[in-house]
Amino acid sequence: MNKVVVITGAGGVLCSTLAKALAKKSYKIALLDLNKEAAEKVSNEIKIQGGTSIAIGANVLRKESLEKARSIVSKELGPCDILINGAGGNHPLGTTTNPFLNNEDLLIDNKEFKTFFDLDMEGVQFVFNLNFIGTMLPSQVFAKEMIGKTGCSILNISSMNAYTPLTKIPAYSGAKAAVSNFTQWLAVHFSKVGIRVNALAPGFFLTEQNRTLLTTDKGKLTQRGNTIIEQTPMGRFGEPEDLIGATLWLCGEQSNFVTGISIPIDGGFSAFSGV
Ligand code: NAD
Repeated sequence: MNKVVVITGAGGVLCSTLAKALAKKSYKIALLDLNKEAAEKVSNEIKIQGGTSIAIGANVLRKESLEKARSIVSKELGPCDILINGAGGNHPLGTTTNPFLNNEDLLIDNKEFKTFFDLDMEGVQFVFNLNFIGTMLPSQVFAKEMIGKTGCSILNISSMNAYTPLTKIPAYSGAKAAVSNFTQWLAVHFSKVGIRVNALAPGFFLTEQNRTLLTTDKGKLTQRGNTIIEQTPMGRFGEPEDLIGATLWLCGEQSNFVTGISIPIDGGFSAFSGV
């Protein structure tokens, strides 16, 4: 096998799990993260288990940073075969307090209370940049090395909210819809040069990003957490390990004729009408 996989956001909850699973299948892993320490921790775990990996501090929003990372990866592991665009997330400034606007909300005099009219475009921009530009730019930097080789692919991380927006998070929903759309665009664009482009669309996974939205400090479900479980036919949150099967399949030869898809991994959430 020995293909080189570059993973951005690799110090995070979901992508560290994918990195370890790919390393167990003998892929060589380059872990890129803004938080270099987090990437190093994952890299050490991979090495202890006998895998090959390196950790690199890199910012998916800075081309020079990614180009620097690319030359380190090339030198230490070889040119990139597979890119997983895992860095992403939401921002509180792009989030409303309530799911629905009520007439009386406009009378509330509290800076912490945010309706649509209070959303800060800096927060919205942050979310669009991180999720969309943070997927497009690493693809630009790393896919160049894939041209002319075989078995190369890109795996983006979209989300449930790309299909139907989730309440309260218009920026994140729009940005992930853009990631799914870009996945199709790039799949078509790269179809003649042998680079497949696909995405995972995870449902709800309890991670640091959403823990306070979905659970209370006593570990109980919030109202939003309860609603999600009620709307998920399989009746639970996803575990990071639930993403491994689809990732191995999309990165491997078994999916050679698959490009331009986003796979929902959601316990049936997207299939359920609620009744
Ligand atoms: P996480 O916050 O645990 O990991 C994200 C990682 O990205 C962090 O290690 C962070 O340091 C890194 N990062 C942030 N900005 C960066 C930048 N500019 N450059 C490089 N690295 C940067 O998040 P997670 O829950 O593991 O999510 C991983 C991906 O899955 C994200 O794209 C997220 O939007 C998506 N996703 C998560 C869920 C969920 O329920 N957790 C659901 C659907 C999609």
